[in-house]
Amino acid sequence: MAIQEQETAAEPVRLFRINTGSCNGCDVELAVTSAVTEFDVEQLGCRYTESAHEADIVLITGPLTVRARDEVLRLYAATPRDRITVAVGVCPVSGGVFRDSYAVDGPLERHLPVDVNIPGCPPRPLALLAGIRQALEVRRARRAGEPIREPGDRKQPAADNFPARGRLSFDASACVDCRMCRHVCAAGAIRFEEGEGGVRLTLWHNSCVFCGLCSHYCPTGALSVTGDWRLDHPAADAFRQVERGEVPYQPCAGCGEPIIPAAPQLLHAVFRRPNPEIEKLKNLCPACRQRMSIGVPRR
Ligand code: SF4
Ligand code: SF4
Repeated sequence: MAIQEQETAAEPVRLFRINTGSCNGCDVELAVTSAVTEFDVEQLGCRYTESAHEADIVLITGPLTVRARDEVLRLYAATPRDRITVAVGVCPVSGGVFRDSYAVDGPLERHLPVDVNIPGCPPRPLALLAGIRQALEVRRARRAGEPIREPGDRKQPAADNFPARGRLSFDASACVDCRMCRHVCAAGAIRFEEGEGGVRLTLWHNSCVFCGLCSHYCPTGALSVTGDWRLDHPAADAFRQVERGEVPYQPCAGCGEPIIPAAPQLLHAVFRRPNPEIEKLKNLCPACRQRMSIGVPRR
């Protein structure tokens, strides 16, 4: 029997919200899950409660501000010990765009145990329902002493019927290592590591707010925002929610120094139809390119 059918047949599962100092974006989306029939949590056999003592699932929004911290922890301590805790939006998980603020004392996991994360900024109502379903599964598995089952219904409406911002996609073959994406990412979601064989980009979806700036400013289209909004996961899997790719070094055609050559996408964006001279330059390091273009500079 499906989780929601079991819960509907029995007492409703009670959801209790705690706002730790959010911008209210996630709270507005949560309001939709009680005010709009299509997204109502009742379809999962759940109901919101105003009483911390009744909470079966605690939904926490916001980056945990210093000002709210003590009250949040007092309220959380009043919820039953077997409650499932859900971090709603990227703020409680990583701090999101507020991660470096002096007024924030997150991430939430430093102060209390989190079971499920629902990334997003804010997560849309369907993503919230999917995350609550994940929390119900954690609750079932914990009560039965069984492992958590993978959701079999990762399907989502096609992007053109249901436009959504979601998971970022990275095409390493188009990347030229300019690092503009990291420069514009206010959430600090993008990291570069230089290795033996190349440069690796890692984008963490528990920090990404799907703003699309990296994709907008990427000169080659190596990063793109997809419509895949299903990002809910057990908190233990938080650091697996990444998009990764390695841009390999190649030897400079002149001196053999390892370089990242200009991707064809960049040449086409800049020159439209690159001529053979330009094609030759793309596989040279800056020093060899200078020699080829203007000769050996005088010192
Ligand atoms: S993904 Fe785009 S913006 Fe980021 S380093 Fe690569 S080319 Fe530059
Ligand atoms: S969409 Fe790109 S720029 Fe915006 S938060 Fe995510 S990784 Fe950063």
